[in-house]
Amino acid sequence: MSDKPPPDPFEQLPKQIQELLKGSNVKSFYSPPIPATGAATEDVADETDEKHQTTLRRIREFNLKPREIRDYLDRFVIQQAEAKKVLSVAICDHYNHVRQCLEDQALRERDYAKQNILLLGPTGVGKTYLMRCIAKLIGVPFVKADATKFSETGYVGGDVEDLVRDLVKAADSDVELAQYGIIYIDEIDKIASAAGNVVGRDVSGRGVQINLLKLMEETDVNLHSQTDIAGQIQALMDFQRRSRPHKSTINTRHILFIVSGAFDKLTEQIKRRVQSGQVGFASTGRDRPADDTALLQLAQSRDFIDYGMEPEFVGRLPVRVACQALTAGDLEKILLTSEGSILQQYRADFSGYGIDFEITPEAVREIAGQAQAENTGARGLMTVLERVLRDFKFELPSTAIKSFKIDRATVAQPSETLRTLLRQNAAQQRDVLKADVAAFAARFQKEYGFELAFEDSAIERLIELSLAADKTIRALCEEKFRDFHHGLKLIARDGEPRRFAITRDVVDAPDKVLSRWVVESFRRAAGGSA
Ligand code: ADP
Repeated sequence: MSDKPPPDPFEQLPKQIQELLKGSNVKSFYSPPIPATGAATEDVADETDEKHQTTLRRIREFNLKPREIRDYLDRFVIQQAEAKKVLSVAICDHYNHVRQCLEDQALRERDYAKQNILLLGPTGVGKTYLMRCIAKLIGVPFVKADATKFSETGYVGGDVEDLVRDLVKAADSDVELAQYGIIYIDEIDKIASAAGNVVGRDVSGRGVQINLLKLMEETDVNLHSQTDIAGQIQALMDFQRRSRPHKSTINTRHILFIVSGAFDKLTEQIKRRVQSGQVGFASTGRDRPADDTALLQLAQSRDFIDYGMEPEFVGRLPVRVACQALTAGDLEKILLTSEGSILQQYRADFSGYGIDFEITPEAVREIAGQAQAENTGARGLMTVLERVLRDFKFELPSTAIKSFKIDRATVAQPSETLRTLLRQNAAQQRDVLKADVAAFAARFQKEYGFELAFEDSAIERLIELSLAADKTIRALCEEKFRDFHHGLKLIARDGEPRRFAITRDVVDAPDKVLSRWVVESFRRAAGGSA
């Protein structure tokens, strides 16, 4: 670390804010930090040190090989063999370089072309997922944002530097760790300057590209945005409290940037270029939509520049790879074999209620087929599963059903199947509702100390009402016996009785019966004392 004194955070505030703060108490925050003395400050320093060391150790010990990364990705991501290969190599190169820089400071001064990556391809095919998996494997923080949310000045929309600050947040404010994180920027094709001039935006996509460029190169980013006054004041307070010189900026030299986009119109452009230069390309029959990936693989820098990307920007993205569209077969495989399959998530959701399900291969095929028709890649799987299982998730937790089967018919007609399932379990359902009445009585007793002894006729009546009104026993009882504890307290003003028999009549007219009970109890008392 350099011996330079830390920058004065007060000086880093915008001039207007400095003026505003002068003379106020806040100004005292820019006095120099108090040297470490007490045990508490030492603890903080120790903790910071430990975190710092673990981070550096993880990076310093980076020893993964491209094939190992690819194998790890294979467990989660289906297809995208080329992307996995290219990413594995780029990631190894990047983190090996980081490791070497940490080992040898001299190397740090040498020029190095960072392996920032451009991922092409349609939506929902695993571009983000690949990078998320890699970040998780290495243990570095990861953030994702859409390029369209940024503007050149940061006043309308966000400031690109917010990405770096978000990375610090993702690293639990560990700036050291954030320095080696991964930033993923999607929809980069939407800020192509030709296409990006949307009326009403204060800047063109060009400005955003230039700003991103600075980040991707190397720059120091303030940990608190110039427009975030609360953050700036917090920074001053942190600065005051810390026992050691505290970083107020983060350097982006070792942050890896991944930008991605569908670049769907680019395929037309490439096709024209290839066709004009290479007679017979179209006649090879490769111009089917599935071959868009093949065309995107042929993209050259000048294609991106023609598309509206800044030459310098394209130049900073030396690693380019296209992900392919997923077929129905791929989607099937995702459901069945990916360790991160959405089906696993549904299993976990149902098991939260102790419910298990079985899914037939035909059902998986049907879901995959329907998902593919959505044209949103693997995201379609979630859409279809949500549609199929939504009512199951709503109804089953309140029933006695602990397992069910998803077959082709379930996928084709989920409501029908659910209705049949509920009908078949109607008998057990009465037991569940009975148990719900008992549970209400137990809660009531625990809370107010009175036993509500529901007679069979009352339970039957509650079940009847619950089914007819499509209301849970809990809601029904809470509504019917809402004021009961007040009345019962009056009746049992001398401590007795504690037990009340609840008949069908009470269920039908709770308030009326309760009033009668209260009046009778007072009459009895008056009679007794007379
Ligand atoms: P995009 O290509 O638009 O970045 P994502 O990677 O965000 O798409 O994909 C959305 C979700 O779909 C992922 O979180 C993952 O669950 C699933 N998914 C997408 N592609 C694949 C794939 N090739 N293999 C396994 N799961 C995938």
